[in-house]
This record gives sequence, structure tokens and C-alpha cells, in this order.
Amino acid sequence: MKPVISQDRHTLRALMRRRLSAKIFNRLQEIGRLADAGGVSAYLVGGLVRDLLLGYTNLDVDIAVEGDGMAFARRLADRYGAGVKVFDRFATALVVFPDGFKLDVATARCESYAHPTALPTVEPSSIKDDLYRRDFTINALALRLNATPFGELVDFYGGRHDLSAKIIRVLHARSFVDDPTRVFRAIRFEQRFGFRIETHTLTLLKKAAASDLVRRLSGPRLRNEVMRLLSEQAPARAVRRMAECDLLRFLHTGLALTAHLTGLLSDLGKSLAWWTKRFPRRPLDRALVYFIGLMDELSASATHAVVKQLALPGDQANKISLAKKHVAPALRSLARQRSPQPSETYRTLADLPDEGLVLLVAKARSTDIARLVSAYVTTQQHVRPSLNGADLKALGLKPGPIYKKILDRLLEARLDGEVKTRADERELVKKLAKV
Ligand code: ATP
Repeated sequence: MKPVISQDRHTLRALMRRRLSAKIFNRLQEIGRLADAGGVSAYLVGGLVRDLLLGYTNLDVDIAVEGDGMAFARRLADRYGAGVKVFDRFATALVVFPDGFKLDVATARCESYAHPTALPTVEPSSIKDDLYRRDFTINALALRLNATPFGELVDFYGGRHDLSAKIIRVLHARSFVDDPTRVFRAIRFEQRFGFRIETHTLTLLKKAAASDLVRRLSGPRLRNEVMRLLSEQAPARAVRRMAECDLLRFLHTGLALTAHLTGLLSDLGKSLAWWTKRFPRRPLDRALVYFIGLMDELSASATHAVVKQLALPGDQANKISLAKKHVAPALRSLARQRSPQPSETYRTLADLPDEGLVLLVAKARSTDIARLVSAYVTTQQHVRPSLNGADLKALGLKPGPIYKKILDRLLEARLDGEVKTRADERELVKKLAKV
């Protein structure tokens, strides 16, 4: 197939100038000049090319070099006083400029897979082969950076057509077999851009999904794809698509998109929007919120099995288990009491991570409970008694388990407004110590 070169190469140059920051644009031109001087060809590749044509912002600059990419990365670093970290095994390098700007450089390569899901064996090759190993036609576009002709679109596989037609299409029939993470990637791009998975590609995808290929992915690779899906703007739709393609079973055989789960995912969207508006300076792990939601109908032990299988990092695993343990009882407790004392709200919510609080608000579907959570986050969570252990000692109390009891009681009294000053607290301690 002949590459489709843009009819007017200046069109893309102009588009690049218009859509990229001056810093990136100039740096790309410098890279092109350096490639010319070194007698190699350098290309901008990957998501940035796609997003440039779609009009989206993307700051991930990936460069592919026909020739010795690692030597080129070193020259680039030398020339601009940048740091360079070369990963020889993968023929990739990270270049970090003095102003913090980063880019990835790779030697253009072809890939072969020893067996499905294996990490590929790579060999230096042409840009044509480099683009052929990519997941979808829309991600297999490149822009030439050499000075003549800077900005030329390299499109061997019809990516530009598919971008205009809003189609996700694999480059060859073995694509999902070579790398089943692409099953999730197809859904991610389809949902993100409102594209359609092309008919033949969808047949291949469903065939891969119906096989056990996905099971052969390592936990971290599967987790990475699932979390990236859940980090998208509208994860509920992506989950629906996963269910349609029978992919949820790879998380847990008991996982199904029930009416309850559909409703919960939609309520989570609202609850997250509420949280972000109410607490803009308290960002949370959105993907994790949806992940915990997805596990809502699974038992604690089934959830634990999923967490283990995906090898979730400790902090995420911990938040999941806290939410699993405490959301349902907290919900029952808050629903029972019409207007709980602040200390009661505190006790009920204190063990929940923020992601669990968002889940609780979604499940409660009650403005009263949202208000209680809000008061807890803004006020109660920050309340501390002003006396500490050293103060108790100074008051003549013998250290021991009683300290915790007294400090807990002081906190409760502070929360409920029974004590307002240090002197009040001291009085209360004296009373408690007598009992
Ligand atoms: P996003 O905007 O979500 O980051 P992206 O396309 O930049 O999308 P990356 O995962 O950063 O996604 O990948 C960069 C490029 O590397 C892709 O555009 C694609 O060309 C290629 N690529 C990434 N993952 C795969 C894969 N599993 N199979 C084939 N090509 C891939």
C-alpha cells in the first residue's frame, strides 16, 4: 500500500502550528533539523497525531526514528542539555529537557509474537513496519519531522479516513490475538470519541472475547486497561460495552451488569460531580470509585479475589476493602438516625476513604445524607481535642489504656460542642479521671 501523503503538506504544518503550543511546535522542528543533520528520519507518532487531527489536546510527545533512535536521543539530549534515560532492551529513551518538557524516542521497529499475549520480540525496521504493529488505524498515523517536508502525514493504513469516518479498525486479523489488551483499548477509544468499532473488527473482538485469551494477560496488564477504561469521562457506557462483549467475566465470573449496577454507575457519576463541585481541592481516584461500584454485588471474598488477581497496589486494595466493609453499615446507621450528633456521624464515617464516601452518597440517594457527609468532610473530620497525651500526664494521670478512652471522649465532646476551650477540656478530664 502506498502512503497517503497529505495533498497539501502545509495543511498539517499549519494545523500543527495552530494546535500545538509554540514550545512543542518549535521543539518538533528542532528535532526534524537534528534528524536531517544526522541522516535519519524522525516522526511524530501515536496518540498526539490522532488528537491533533481530531482537535483534542494531548501532551504525550512520542518520536519514532528510522535508524539508531538511541543514538539520536543522546544527540538530542547533548544538544539541548537535556537528561536522557535509555532503555536499551526496548530501544526506547526518555528525554527530559531542562525546562521539564519530556518526550519519548523509540527506534522504529517491527514486532513478532512468540505466542498470543507474549511480550513481542522487536527488531529495528521502517516507519511502515512500526506503524503496522500498532493497535488501530487511527493510532497508526505519523507526521514526518525532517525539515523537508516537515509536517507530512504518513498514512499507510487509512487512519485519516477512519478518523473522518469515526471508525475503530484493527490493522490485521490477528491483532486481538497478538495482544488482547486491544479489546479494552478498542472500547476505550470507541467510547471516548463516540466512534464505532468497524463490523469486521467487532467480529474479531467478540471472537477474542469469547475465547480465553484475555485470561492469559498478566494481572497488572489487565488492571491497567480496566483502570484506564474507568478513568474515561463516561465509564458507565464503557462498562455497558464490556458487558455486551462479555468481558466482565474476566474480572470475576459472578460479575454481571444488572439493573442495580447500571443504576449505581449512573448515580456514581452524579455523586462524583457533586463531590468535585463541593470539594474541588480534594481530588480522588475516580477510576477506583467506579471500580468499587462495579464490585458492589460481589461478596467481600469475591472482591478480594479480584483485587488479588489484578494485583492492585496496596493503597487501592486497602481503600476497596475499607469501602466494602464500612459503606453498607454506615448507610444503615445514617438512614436510621434522623439528625445524628456530629460525633455519631464522625464515628460512622471515620473509617471510610473519600472514594467510599462518594459511593455512600451514590447509594444513599438522599440529600440529607449528602449533607451529613459534607459536614463531616468540611468540619468534623478536622476536629481534634486540644489536649494531648502530654497534657494528660501534666494533669497527673498515669499513662495507660485510659488515655485513649479519655482522648476519644474529649474528641466526642469537642465535636458535639460540650467543650469549647482548653479549660473546658481540662475540667472534663478531671471529671473523667475521678470516675
Ligand atoms: P491515550 O490518549 O489514552 O493516552 P494513546 O493512543 O496515546 O491514548 P498510549 O497507550 O499512550 O495511548 O499509546 C501510544 C501509542 O502507542 C498508541 O497511539 C498506539 O499507536 C501505540 N500502542 C499503545 N498500546 C498499544 C497496543 N496494546 N498495541 C498496539 N499499539 C499500541
